[in-house]
Amino acid sequence: MPDVVIVGGGVNGASTAFHLAKAGVRSVTLLERRQLGAGASGKSGALVRCHYTNPHEARLAFESLKVFRSWGDIVGGDCGFEATGFLQVVAPQYEPQLRANVAAHQALGINTRVIAASEVKALVPEARVDDLTVAAHEPDSGFADPNATLYGFIAAARRLGVDVRTGVETTRVVLAGGRAAGVETSQGRIEADAVVLAPGVWASRLLAPLGLDLALVPHRAQVAVFRWPAGFSHRHPVFIDATMGAWFRPEGAAGTLIGVEMGITGTDIDHLDEGVDPDYVALCRSKLAARLPAFAEATMRGGWAGLIMMSPDERPIIDQIPSVPGLFCMLGDSGTSFKTSPAIGRCLAEWITAGAPQLMDLSPFRLSRFAEGRPWRDAHTYGSDRLTISR
Ligand SMILES: Cc1cc2nc3c(=O)[nH]c(=O)nc-3n(C[C@H](O)[C@H](O)[C@H](O)COP(=O)(O)OP(=O)(O)OC[C@H]3O[C@@H](n4cnc5c(N)ncnc54)[C@H](O)[C@@H]3O)c2cc1C
Repeated sequence: MPDVVIVGGGVNGASTAFHLAKAGVRSVTLLERRQLGAGASGKSGALVRCHYTNPHEARLAFESLKVFRSWGDIVGGDCGFEATGFLQVVAPQYEPQLRANVAAHQALGINTRVIAASEVKALVPEARVDDLTVAAHEPDSGFADPNATLYGFIAAARRLGVDVRTGVETTRVVLAGGRAAGVETSQGRIEADAVVLAPGVWASRLLAPLGLDLALVPHRAQVAVFRWPAGFSHRHPVFIDATMGAWFRPEGAAGTLIGVEMGITGTDIDHLDEGVDPDYVALCRSKLAARLPAFAEATMRGGWAGLIMMSPDERPIIDQIPSVPGLFCMLGDSGTSFKTSPAIGRCLAEWITAGAPQLMDLSPFRLSRFAEGRPWRDAHTYGSDRLTISR
C-alpha cells in the first residue's frame, strides 16, 4: 500500500484520510495549516440533498446521503444529520426541466418525486405557494452539522492510525522523476507515494509552482440566521428556492439559516471578513419572507462569511493531475462540495489504492475538460447553471 500525504483539514481531506485508512493504507498523514475546519467546511450551510441539474453530482450526493443517514455505523459518532426533507422550488416555466431532473434522479434510485404546489402547502402550511405549480421533494434529505461531520471523519481516521497534524503548512509539492513524491512543509519534508490536494481557496499557491493555472476564483459566501417569529415552531424542510436564488434550513432549536445568490466577487483570502454585511441581512430577510411571510419581522440572530473556490464552470475538479502522476486533487469546490464529501473521499481513496474509483466514474469531474473546450453545461437548468451561491 502507498504512503499518502493529504493537504487540507476540511471535510474532503478528512473523508479521504478516513477512506484510505479504512481501505488498509497504513501510512496516511493529513496536514492542516491552521485548525480543522479553517476553510469552507467550518462555515458550511451543510445542506444534504441529491437534487442537482446533472446526474453526476446527484450520484455523488446520493452515495454520500447513504453515509450521512448511517453515519454511526459507517464512521461512528454523530454528524448532526437531520432528515427534515428537502424541497426544490422552481418558477412555473421550469416545470419541464424539474420533471426531467427528477426522472433522472429516480433512475439513479433517489427517493424523490414531483409534488404539486398544494402538497408543498400541506408539508409547509406557513409557506406562500401561489407563485408555484410544482416542486421536487426528497423526504430522506436534510442537513448536517459541518463541523461535527469533519470532526467525525477525523476521529475515525485517527482511530485507524492516520497522523493528523494541525498548524503545519505545506509549502510545495515535491516531484521525483515527474511524479509526486511528497511535500515540503513548514516542519520539514514528508515523502509519499501519493499526494492529495484538498486545500480549498489556498490551492493556487501549491499549483502555480507546478505550472498549473486552473483559473480558480475565491469567493466570499455569506449566510444569516433568523430567530423564528412568534407562533412559528415548524421544523420546516430544507428549501432551495430557484425563484429567488436562495436556500434555507432550520438552524439550532428555533432558527432558520439562509444563503442567497450574490454573484462572484474576488476576495482577499488572507483577510476574510468573517462577519455578515448589513445589506446582506436585509436581502436575506426579504427573500425568506417572500416564501415564509411570517419572517418579515423576524429577529436577525447572527451570520457569518466563509470562502469557497469557484472553478471556471462552477463544478468541482476531482482528478489525478494528468501532468503529475501521483498527485490527486479535490479543487474548485464551487460552494457545493460538503454534501458530496463522503463519496469524494471514498473515490479518491479507491483511485489511490485500486488504480481507479470503484464507486462511480469520476471522468465528468476531470481537469482536462477545460483544455478540451468542454466545460460543464447542464441540460435542464432553472434559468442559469452559473450559480455562485453556496449550497
Ligand atoms: C457559507 C457557506 C455555505 C455553504 N453551504 C453548503 C451547503 O449547504 N452544502 C454543500 O454541499 N456545500 C456548502 N458549502 C461549500 C462546502 O462547505 C465546501 O465545498 C466544502 O466544505 C469544501 O471542503 P474542502 O475540504 O474541499 O475545503 P476546505 O474546507 O476549504 O478545507 C481546506 C483546508 O485546507 C487548509 N489548507 C490550505 N492550504 C494549505 C496548505 N498549504 N497546507 C496545509 N493546509 C492547507 C485550509 O486551512 C483549510 O482548512 C458552503 C460553503 C460556505 C462558505
